[in-house]
Amino acid sequence: MADSYELRCTECGRKFENAPLSICDECFSPLEVFCDLDEARKDFTREKIAAGPTSMWRYKALLPVSREFEPVTPAGWTPLLKAPRLGKRIGANNLYIKNDAVCLPTLSFKDRVVAIALASAKEFGFDTVGCSSTGNLANAVAAQAARMGFKTFILVPADLEPAKILNTQVYGANLVRIDGNYDHVNRLCSQIADRYRWGFVNVNLRPYYAEGSKTVGYEIAEQLGWRLPDNVVVPMAGGSLIRKIRKAFQELVTLGLVEDKPVKFFGAQATGCSPISTAVKAGRTEIEPQRPQTIARSLAIGNPADGRYAAKMIQETGGWAEDVSDVELVSAIQELAETEGVFTETAGGVTTAVTARLYAHGRIRPDELTVSCITGNGLKTTDALQGAYTLEQPVRPRLADFEAYVEEKKLQHELVLEGSYVS
Ligand SMILES: *Cc1c(COP(=O)(O)O)cnc(C)c1O
Ligand SMILES: [Zn+2]
Repeated sequence: MADSYELRCTECGRKFENAPLSICDECFSPLEVFCDLDEARKDFTREKIAAGPTSMWRYKALLPVSREFEPVTPAGWTPLLKAPRLGKRIGANNLYIKNDAVCLPTLSFKDRVVAIALASAKEFGFDTVGCSSTGNLANAVAAQAARMGFKTFILVPADLEPAKILNTQVYGANLVRIDGNYDHVNRLCSQIADRYRWGFVNVNLRPYYAEGSKTVGYEIAEQLGWRLPDNVVVPMAGGSLIRKIRKAFQELVTLGLVEDKPVKFFGAQATGCSPISTAVKAGRTEIEPQRPQTIARSLAIGNPADGRYAAKMIQETGGWAEDVSDVELVSAIQELAETEGVFTETAGGVTTAVTARLYAHGRIRPDELTVSCITGNGLKTTDALQGAYTLEQPVRPRLADFEAYVEEKKLQHELVLEGSYVS
């Protein structure tokens, strides 16, 4: 049976057979996968989707995997949370959080892209897979490859957060730390992929991998009751996720599953690595590579593969991009946790701080339906909060000591003393 998806060059439009390829051999532009929407249309209704699995695989008809593929790693289908308390703080009346901090199996949105990339790796007959990673991708590849029985080689910058290193090693992956930043690691991986028959999820399998990000967009639309938001705020590293959310919305419109409407896309970066937001703010689409210097390591790609396309797309939709300092992103991590009970990693701090600024600057109006994409979990970057909280001396396990402690610290305790917890 013919595949219901194909590879095309984003610039010259040349078509390619499905294969582990990411660059056009005529014009050297990136290749992208396009799924056959007419094929999908036949069998893809709101009812059928609702009856599907509670994972990203409910959208299988729009993903580049064969009909026969049986998923073994259910990823995605994360909560879309209303965020009234954060909204109140930042002047937003209609704010939602797409919470991929709890994406399974490894607590970041990278589980979605890896699910597709490893399905492709299986179809292309690889037995070894790998990636270059700023952390979350390493975790996702290591875990899902273990479950699918692949051997793994994972290359990361040597200075990665310890939790992200441990979360890769525990799955038995071969972890290679490289003395350099992500852009060095990525270049090395391209060279390795040319020499070894390995499936690198974000190198030779990149066109397939990237399609996995569309599922964030499908889920947002379905969870909003099959409608599109006014605005989406998305963190950017390579600039792929933000583009694919838009592609997802456009596909749903083409399929008649949602009504068309203009959606503005807003990109978020850390100032210490902000090649895309810098271009957007200057009204340019060309990207000037930067040397990353930020604690938001999962976004620290100085030379983003999809940067130019992301910048262009943001401008086309009437959106904007912003970047925030490391100090701001840490406060935003705390603010999101305190108001909505969502503990995100540094990238989510970036997104939250940028969201707040977009409201403050009037780029997003209070009543517009806005979705802020939280993409990773705070337990992986606890070092970002080092020193933010102090630990008191332990109190002896006696009521009198506890009361003395409450008195000394002037803790708020009116409700308890009035017995309002006891009915
Ligand atoms: C990789 C990553 C992103 C950005 O993804 P791109 O598609 O490369 O722009 C955002 N957030 C987190 C937590 C990530 O790990
Ligand atoms: Zn081409």
